[in-house]
Amino acid sequence: MAGHFLVLYPKNPVWAPASLAPLLNALKSIGFLGAERSAGLYSAGPEYLGLVTYLGCSPQIALGENEAATTIRIAGIFDAPRFVQGAALKPPRCPQCRKTLDKPAAPVEAGENLRCNHCGHGGNACDFDWRSSAACGRVFIEISNVFESEAVPGEALADCLREASGEAWDCCYVRKAG
Ligand SMILES: [Zn+2]
Repeated sequence: MAGHFLVLYPKNPVWAPASLAPLLNALKSIGFLGAERSAGLYSAGPEYLGLVTYLGCSPQIALGENEAATTIRIAGIFDAPRFVQGAALKPPRCPQCRKTLDKPAAPVEAGENLRCNHCGHGGNACDFDWRSSAACGRVFIEISNVFESEAVPGEALADCLREASGEAWDCCYVRKAG
């Protein structure tokens, strides 16, 4: 699906739940997820605007059932970590020296090894800091119609995700072309 997405993902790229049910139930119970449109694709729930914090002064947010409205997709569980990236992938920061690498040729693969051109540190692409432009994981929550840095998960949503999964979550912004 094309568009701009806020993607939530567990910080540990190899972690995945045994089943999505506990996560889905928790997200439904706090009003984050609304009606299921198709397998894994939901309308925003009744409490969505209290759970996702929009940072602009008067963002245009379309909620409800219509085609153009914001949707929430639960993607996964994948057998192995996937590297989710968009058209606006940024050059990553080295986990060792914190300097920014030259931008690697996209698309980056989850198992790909990168080498820092500053300190020589080598490691899996998932271990580098993609500055909120990519995510590595086996399960993702993709919220549509969110431009870069336009919204962040609120504290109640972050708490819910952590409690339902036992994992800390992070977020990034991905622009998909097609
Ligand atoms: Zn380095």
